[in-house]
Amino acid sequence: GTPTALMVGSGIGAEKGILIRNGEAVQTFKDVKAIAFDKTGTITKGKPEVTDLVTVEGIKEKEVLYFAGSIENASEHPLAHAIVEKAKDQQIPLGEVKDFEAIVGMGVVGSIDGTRILVGNRKLMKENNIAYEAYEEELVRLEEEAKTAMMIAQDKKLLGIVAVADPLKEDSIEAIRELEAMGIITAMITGDNQRTAAAIGKKVGISHVIAEVLPDGKVEEVVRLQEKYATVAMVGDGINDAPALKQANVGIAIGTGTDIAIEAADVTLVRGELSGIISAIKLSRATFRKIK
Ligand code: ADP
Ligand code: MG
Repeated sequence: GTPTALMVGSGIGAEKGILIRNGEAVQTFKDVKAIAFDKTGTITKGKPEVTDLVTVEGIKEKEVLYFAGSIENASEHPLAHAIVEKAKDQQIPLGEVKDFEAIVGMGVVGSIDGTRILVGNRKLMKENNIAYEAYEEELVRLEEEAKTAMMIAQDKKLLGIVAVADPLKEDSIEAIRELEAMGIITAMITGDNQRTAAAIGKKVGISHVIAEVLPDGKVEEVVRLQEKYATVAMVGDGINDAPALKQANVGIAIGTGTDIAIEAADVTLVRGELSGIISAIKLSRATFRKIK
């Protein structure tokens, strides 16, 4: 009953930095058959850095960073932050952006010095009739290295590619390995492209990779997992993870993430360490196994 749940809850909390907001979660943990993880900020540190800069012939690196940095300065996305930091590192003064627009799942668009600048993925370039096919091999190479590759275009011309990598959290590989050993299915849900997501999934040992999901699509993916596995936990840190955290049987927020995710979740991993989930499941299994 509830007193036991609360006792167990506070026990894990003290030990592993887990905050239980909903006591029922402590009992539900023992039934969890599958766990869906957000990628950025959940499996990875959420601190991407620029690793590669590819320029089209005749274009200077500084030009690419000037336009990309200027426009990304208006975006809140972690990918944007990485590009702005790189431009600042190179002491490139950033320009003023007009008519800025973020396009979900694709990238950003705006006007700089009277020209139209786009930064984003293949979908964004296709939609704007920008030819990038000559760079397809380069994009694939970067993505197979688990990097997110973004293209920069000015008016109708491609200027270059910026690739960004987000390192795994220290305990991600070990946590996923243990969950799989406990018989729990692991899945990663991300808006990132299929190839990058697969490369990260492989690095971390996750069994299911669900990529190119729009923010609204995460709930649907959790529902799909529930149809298959009945009791599903979801782990996430972002505003756009909140509906999926609510939909899951146990919603688990990363304590270093957004308040909106924390409020939507049943449980918070205060320090953001995924290993807390293992402690919670083990304790729940041990406590409630013999009661019913
Ligand atoms: P995630 O949170 O998993 O990164 P998003 O839906 O936020 O997923 O982004 C999906 C994809 O859209 C990114 O991988 C990137 O290709 C593109 N994108 C999103 N925001 C930006 C941005 N500010 N600059 C460039 N590309 C972006
Ligand atoms: Mg995230």
